[in-house]
Formats: sequence, structure tokens, C-alpha cells
Amino acid sequence: MEHFFHGIPRIFYGIPRILRKIYIRVDKDTANPSKAWERIRIKQQHTRCPHPDPITPVTPDKIRFVCISDTHGKIERSGLRMPPGDVLLHAGDFTTRGQLTEIEKFNSYLGFLPYKVKVLIAGNHDLTLDEELGDSTLQSFGLQHSEIESYLKSRGLKSVKEMLTNAVYLLDSSVSICGIKLYGAPWQPIFRNWGFNVKRGEELLEKWQKIPTDTDILITHGPPVGHGDLTGGNNNVGCVELLNTVQKRVKPKYHVFGHIHESYGVTSDGFTTFINASTCTIRYKPTNSPIVFDFDIPEGRSKEELLHMEKNSSY
Ligand code: 5GP
Ligand code: MN
Ligand code: MN
Repeated sequence: MEHFFHGIPRIFYGIPRILRKIYIRVDKDTANPSKAWERIRIKQQHTRCPHPDPITPVTPDKIRFVCISDTHGKIERSGLRMPPGDVLLHAGDFTTRGQLTEIEKFNSYLGFLPYKVKVLIAGNHDLTLDEELGDSTLQSFGLQHSEIESYLKSRGLKSVKEMLTNAVYLLDSSVSICGIKLYGAPWQPIFRNWGFNVKRGEELLEKWQKIPTDTDILITHGPPVGHGDLTGGNNNVGCVELLNTVQKRVKPKYHVFGHIHESYGVTSDGFTTFINASTCTIRYKPTNSPIVFDFDIPEGRSKEELLHMEKNSSY
């Protein structure tokens, strides 16, 4: 039995997949994303998009996604108007340095929001969610492993992510919402001494290789090169391998991210819509409105399912 898969002898069943597989190679200018983008942009469409009107009614045949990011502990008391919708997406940096009290407050805030499902990834500021972060980095931010451990122990929790009871937390993982496939990953090119830092090139590409090809909505903390990645100094700092993965292999309908606050807004390459949903401005003021979009519910599925969704269910 183990040698057969749907009746196909083992020796054959891998071949068509191999033939179909698209390999992304590291770009020669991966370390200089502005230069890489100068070269890549000539061959492709790049348009700025108006934000979809959040005032139009939410309809039963579409899921309305409401995107925010980089709220940095500021949205909770901001009074920022949250538009109606079905599912909230947050692309990371919900705290200033991942203190457990910040995570607790943010989780309660999520609990009060009216969306049926809230999907969340971490960002480089959400330090305590990065389980690979060393003691010295934590200490440089005034955080102690031992304090984290005792805080969790006193609440009967095994990990920081268990504190996020009001969200579907994604870390190199997927969730299906009424048949719409979402994938989330927090990694971004090394930036100072924060969390979820990964080297540009091969190492980041390895993270992006995990994104399933049938992803409809991709959520990362950092932008791909060329979309929502311009800093105040007019440099593109997005990840070249992330753009190549999105455009050549995964081809999601939407790519939602944040991290580069000053590049808030929506762009398109003609197929994928790129949303930099940074709520905070470069001065960490939570004044950028949530960005919404509607996604057609696949045939045979219904919005009713949102009410019965298992937390952390994957597909
Ligand atoms: P955060 O500290 O919230 O992750 O990022 C805040 C700001 O830091 C961004 O809006 C951007 O101005 C800057 N920043 C973040 N990552 C990078 C990077 O990789 N390169 C440069 N030059 N600036 C960055
Ligand atoms: Mn941020
Ligand atoms: Mn960030």
C-alpha cells in the first residue's frame, strides 16, 4: 500500500510535480534591492491603486478583509475607525518590543473587534514571539527569558503565542477561510537587532520556498522589492526573492504586509494586488486607515462557515 498513491506506482507519482516545479534563484543584486528593482521594473507593470471604497455594503458572496499592520501598541486607544468587514488581517508589529503585557492588551483589543475571524502574524518588534531569539538580544530590550517563563507558567501557558486567544496566529503556516487560502510568515531582511531577522538571498528564499503555490492571500511583515517598500530616503528596501516568489511561483491575488510605514498604500503588477497596510506613520502615529478588499467566496462554500471556524485550523 505504501508504494502506491491513488493507484500510481511510487516510481511515477513524483515526476509530473517535478516537471511543474518552478525554481526561484537568488537575484544577483539581492543585496542591493534598489538596483535590482531598477532592472526588474522595466519588464513589468506597476500601478498605484485607489483604495477600495470601504463604504460599499458587505455582501454574502464575498469575504471582506480589513487589513491593518504596524499598530505598535497604539491602535488600542487611538479611536481609529475600523470599517465593517468579515475578517481582520494584521501583518505584524502589533507591539513596541513584545512585552507580554502589550500582547495581553492587544489580544483583548482583538476580542472587542467585531470581525468574525482575526488573522495575525508577528513582526520584528514582537520580540517574545521569536522563539529563536537569544538571551542577549532579549536583554538588550529589557526582556528576560526567566520572567517570560514565570509569566507563562503562572497562567498555565507553554508559549507566548498561546496568549493570542483571539487570533489565528500564522508562522510559516496556512489557514483556509471559506476555501480562500491564506499563508503568513513574519521574516524580513535583517534590520538592526530586532526579531525575525533573516539574511537576504538564500536564507530568506528558503523561508519563501515554504509558501504553498495555491495561496490566495499572502501575509508577510516586510514588503517585496518595488511594492510598498520605499523608505523616506527613497530607497527600495523590500526583498527581491519575495517579489520573484510572488510573481513567478505563488501568484497570490493579494499580498498584504507592512514594516515600511512610510510606504503605506496599494499597488498592482496587473495580477497581484500589493497592500502595505501600515497603520502607524513613520512617526508611529496610528492614523492610516485600514485597507479593505473583497474576495469572492469559492463555489459551494458559504460565509456561515466563519461562525464555526476552528481556531488555528489549517488546510
Ligand atoms: P519598524 O522599526 O517598525 O520595523 O520599522 C520602522 C521604520 O524603520 C520603517 O518605516 C522604515 O523607515 C525603517 N526601516 C525598517 N526596515 C528597514 C530597512 O531594512 N532598511 C531601512 N533603510 N529602513 C528600514
Ligand atoms: Mn513597524
Ligand atoms: Mn517592522
